[in-house]
Amino acid sequence: MKIDSTIEAGNFNVKDIADNVIYAQINKDSNQKDYQWFLCDISDIYETPFSVEIDGVFNASYPEAWKSFVAVGSYDGGEWEALNTELLPNGTIVIHCVKAAQKLQLGYFIPYTLAQHKVLSAMYSSLKYLFSHQLEATVKGNNVEIFSYGCDSANVKNNVWIISRQHSGESNTGPFMEGVAEYMDKHSDTMAVLLGKYNMHIVHNANPDGVQYGMHRTNTEGVDLNRGWLLDDNKKCPELSFIKRCMEDFPPDLFIDIHGDERIVEPYVNIDGNINKTSEADAFVTRLTALGGLEIRDNPVENRDISIGRHFVNYKYDCLCMTIETACQFQKSSVVSEKPMDYFAKASLLGFNIMKQLADNYSTL
Ligand SMILES: [Zn+2]
Repeated sequence: MKIDSTIEAGNFNVKDIADNVIYAQINKDSNQKDYQWFLCDISDIYETPFSVEIDGVFNASYPEAWKSFVAVGSYDGGEWEALNTELLPNGTIVIHCVKAAQKLQLGYFIPYTLAQHKVLSAMYSSLKYLFSHQLEATVKGNNVEIFSYGCDSANVKNNVWIISRQHSGESNTGPFMEGVAEYMDKHSDTMAVLLGKYNMHIVHNANPDGVQYGMHRTNTEGVDLNRGWLLDDNKKCPELSFIKRCMEDFPPDLFIDIHGDERIVEPYVNIDGNINKTSEADAFVTRLTALGGLEIRDNPVENRDISIGRHFVNYKYDCLCMTIETACQFQKSSVVSEKPMDYFAKASLLGFNIMKQLADNYSTL
């Protein structure tokens, strides 16, 4: 067998292969701390069944997530299926691969690639009411992109910001942003009403370097972007410097940050700030959460860590800020008929519904 983790998003360290068992570890992110995500290509498989044993998972970023973890695999690069996965008491994950095949791509989640983000960029570029498309080069020569819609030169409108994938391993934030784009594409009538009052700014991939190099939470310079909002370091995190600079030009009145949580089955939202400031804002949150099936996990708290994006934006701009956590890890508790790709479909539908709520209701504020 051959194992290749030099592929995009690849992250896997093979220690040994013996008796049809691949013994491996997950590489740490470039901050030498976080790890959870893995992806590799296995080829030249001449004997099945074989198994993959990954040790040291109890020291990963979210050790408790392994209890319900199910690895995913693709034999054709298109369809993904759940693989029989067990957690041993010593913190070793064992993945049983029983299907006869020459090759298998094995992952923690289904990957969402830079090529897919490129397609998403083309979609956002083609949407009506696009006002500007700004780019900033990352350390590894990728681009962070901001798509802005409905902006007027006088800049008297309020601003809605939606950013996604600060944590590159949370791959289903890609499909979420597909859902947002799909709504904007199909409902340009209601978008026109929204954009009459609000500019919209979209960042569908805040951490392309992390995506390319298989980081779970950080960029390649070791910065966990969602803990780096107080940094002003164009060398270590040009992604955030760029987004923060553009925010100063278009100060947020609503900030939505999209993430994935390994430990959940249903999505939830964390909200900062002023939801009781106006009854309309309160009603908006209620409708938003009802339609998306979102549970509100916590309300504004004192002593917040303002290096976190949601808290930073709320602190600086005194506006409604929320982090939406989608269910990104295929769970042992999933119903038998469910497939890993269904999690992508659910994230996409959630993105569509959140955008629908914005367009239907926020324009009345
Ligand atoms: Zn996250």
